[in-house]
Amino acid sequence: MKPINILILDDKEENIISLHALLQDIEYINIVCSTDPNEALKICWRDEISIALVDVQMPEINGFEFVSILKSNPKTSHIMAIMVTAISKEDRYLLQGLESGAVDYLYKPLNPEITIAKVKSFVQQIFIQQELIQKNKELEESKMELLKTKEEAVQARKSKEIFLANMSHEIRTPINGIMGIMHMFKSSDLNTEQKDWLKRLDNASQSLLLIINDILDLSKIDSGMLKIEFEDFSLTKMIEDINRIFKIKATHKNLNFEVLMDEQVPQYIRYDSLRLQQIISNFISNSLKFTEKGKIQLAINITEKQNNSFKLRFSVKDTGIGIKEGSVDKIFLAFEQADDGITKKFGGTGLGLAIVKRLANLLNGQIGANSEYGKGSEFFFEGWFEVSSQERKDEVKEVPTYNSFPKFEKLKVLVAEDNDLNSFMLAHMLRSWNCEVDIVKNGQLALEKVDSNHYDLILMDTHMPIMSGFEAIKEIKNSSIPEKHGIPIITISASVLEHEQAAAYRAGADGVIGKPFDPIELYQKIVAVTTKNKNMNLTT
Ligand code: ADP
Repeated sequence: MKPINILILDDKEENIISLHALLQDIEYINIVCSTDPNEALKICWRDEISIALVDVQMPEINGFEFVSILKSNPKTSHIMAIMVTAISKEDRYLLQGLESGAVDYLYKPLNPEITIAKVKSFVQQIFIQQELIQKNKELEESKMELLKTKEEAVQARKSKEIFLANMSHEIRTPINGIMGIMHMFKSSDLNTEQKDWLKRLDNASQSLLLIINDILDLSKIDSGMLKIEFEDFSLTKMIEDINRIFKIKATHKNLNFEVLMDEQVPQYIRYDSLRLQQIISNFISNSLKFTEKGKIQLAINITEKQNNSFKLRFSVKDTGIGIKEGSVDKIFLAFEQADDGITKKFGGTGLGLAIVKRLANLLNGQIGANSEYGKGSEFFFEGWFEVSSQERKDEVKEVPTYNSFPKFEKLKVLVAEDNDLNSFMLAHMLRSWNCEVDIVKNGQLALEKVDSNHYDLILMDTHMPIMSGFEAIKEIKNSSIPEKHGIPIITISASVLEHEQAAAYRAGADGVIGKPFDPIELYQKIVAVTTKNKNMNLTT
């Protein structure tokens, strides 16, 4: 412990000697003495004095004045002053001392015990104060550290968001092109062999899209951007759909696929149907992948009931390769597989179950697995489901190929898109709907075209060089030519980020379409935005 400095100020040398003698045995103190108040003030300024024992009656500056000076200076105001006096204990003297800033009194002739005890107690106080100051400093430092860490986390999250937006744009744009060209092929005359090639190409691009969607899903969940959306839907219909899809797939592998459902399972529930289907489908897809013979069974059981809610357990059992003991927990972590040979033999990214686990958490449900190596596995999801009385109204739309949609009547369209494949495909699609199409590669060129031509519709990519789609939209909506304000604009965004789509509307877009988009969706959006202001005539 660092000793604290105590000042003794008295104009009489003999008083200093006797007080010094009394205090010298107190631990952790260092005594400095002076007979001159001016010199004492300099000492207080220069050295780190913590306690001052000040004689009251001194020529020139008396004790009260000395303490007042100490207290009025920020550099010395912390010093604890104790008045040492021979004058009476009358209240007015006491008050004067306390008012000047002293903390206590010692009366002459000094009582040795009281003097030592008082000084010791003030020394103790100083040490406690010093400790408090140190603790406060440490607290302040850790607060700053915490703020810094929080800032770093916010920054990291922002970078991740930007990365996610760029990734989704960079990857989805070319896939959009590939899938669009495939749509074009599908609409053309093909022989049987070509149809088979196209089917393979379709499967490959679908799997690529699935993997990319998985990566984006995981990033979206981890950055808190994936929203759970509850809606009323028919659970039984969903299970029927799952049954239909996977029965066909199982038959291709010579496997048996069956669904067992408790009779009391409610027909309609309120839940996030998309995510529930994603969880169940993931389990079944894995079972199909890892089972060579035998069967796969999806069971839906009620495990608890409370008022209007059921606890349901969805379990998928298979007679597949099973998982080694000790690997079961690992497989729910991102990029983990039960053993490394699995990727070589069966392929896969190890993301499916990691996503499912995160989804289950978001849905307040539990997932788990039981497995016997070499015999088979069971994967399950359990959660609470609210019973609902109605089904969401689904519009079932089935249009075979885009070139059979009703044609538009003389629709002049400007396509602003920097990706050649996408603009080529868009133009082809639009021309098949009887649109007259101009193509430009950035927002600046779009503005020039809009200034000198009449357009009924603009399709605008969001990320373009020189001038982005958002900037171009704002310019058009604020154009000096009033009739340009009303041109309907649909943005084409490869971003999966909701706020980027909201930004498109804020910029003035009339519709937003994601990439890769479905021709039907684009067609419907065009109908919606172009008929908002005037009634379009469609010719078949
Ligand atoms: P992926 O299948 O793409 O590798 P998943 O996260 O879906 O990723 O699965 C992780 C791992 O869990 C798989 O690689 C496999 O080792 C194991 N696994 C999942 N389901 C099964 C199953 N039904 N039978 C055996 N192993 C399974």
